[in-house]
Amino acid sequence: MPSPSQESAMHIEPWKKGELAISDHDVWCAQVIRTLRQAGPSLPPEVLNMSIPQKHCCFAFGPNKISLPAGAVLRLWSVDPVSTGICPDCGGEVLATAFGGLLNLGGYPGLCIQCGRPMFRWVGGLATMAIRTRPYFEGTPWYSNGCVFGGAYASDGVELAAALGLPAPPKDDRDDGPRIEVGDGGMRLVQEVEVEDEK
Ligand SMILES: [Zn+2]
Repeated sequence: MPSPSQESAMHIEPWKKGELAISDHDVWCAQVIRTLRQAGPSLPPEVLNMSIPQKHCCFAFGPNKISLPAGAVLRLWSVDPVSTGICPDCGGEVLATAFGGLLNLGGYPGLCIQCGRPMFRWVGGLATMAIRTRPYFEGTPWYSNGCVFGGAYASDGVELAAALGLPAPPKDDRDDGPRIEVGDGGMRLVQEVEVEDEK
């Protein structure tokens, strides 16, 4: 299997913009992830063990099978350059905030930590992402410990935000439960669309 550095010479799909408009909740998530990125792995262990806000990661971590924790995602960004990138809209940094997929389609959902736009990068299906990412977390408190097909281990990230000195999140209009669907627009949360008054 090629290492990430070898893969940088191979063809990797660029980050794609999500289909959805940037919500207030996306901007809040970007603030949490940006603050985490800046604080880095020297945060206290109890903070590194708190889950980031995301609803798309098909994997669980550590002995308690928690949703993607801060320490694991910091490590991901440091060891896999494919999990990072540049926003085509604003030039900000794009960071993966989850990984997973279905049979042969999937990759890294993420967001721009400057403008908050949801992003996605095709890499491979659930098994490909498992094989790719498992070594990143071996020997850490956040070893891969389970995955779910067609769903996700989600967290609202409220505990982490508070620990980083950030406010509670605004209402998440897409809060309809963690599920994964892979389509033309990438991998995303499935929305139950309820049309109310037209604006
Ligand atoms: Zn951006």
